Amino acid sequence: MEPPDTVPEKVVAFDWDGTLNNTPVTHGNDPAIMRGQVCDLTPLHAVMASGHRVAIMTAGDPLFVLGRLLDRKVPAFADTAMEHKVPPSAGMVMVTNRKVLADVYVDDRALRWRFGMDASVIERTMRDITPVRRTWRRLWRHR
Ligand SMILES: [Mg+2]
Repeated sequence: MEPPDTVPEKVVAFDWDGTLNNTPVTHGNDPAIMRGQVCDLTPLHAVMASGHRVAIMTAGDPLFVLGRLLDRKVPAFADTAMEHKVPPSAGMVMVTNRKVLADVYVDDRALRWRFGMDASVIERTMRDITPVRRTWRRLWRHR
């Protein structure tokens, strides 16, 4: 039983593309785009400091993301064999290119919605969001 003033350990799955860095879509790890990529791992460190397990999901190459984390001294491994459904420990970030089982997903394109909720929020989000294809063209032009 958890003491009442602590948050039980949860699994947080961060998106990589456009969430922990400023490149909003996957880009085949094109070096021209990757050079301009800016990472901010502040939210990752905050969640790890609270003792939660962390996964990072990418539509790109998980080994590239692993390299960026290790460069910044973040303990991490890439689950390239898709061995784990969730990160096995709280101190080690799991990088994967599939969707993992998690309590919370942090994603630039996510919307929290569940059975029974008002569906109009979905329409509002779709009106506000930049279409991914438009973003891709902008990146392409800047090569
Ligand atoms: Mg994204």
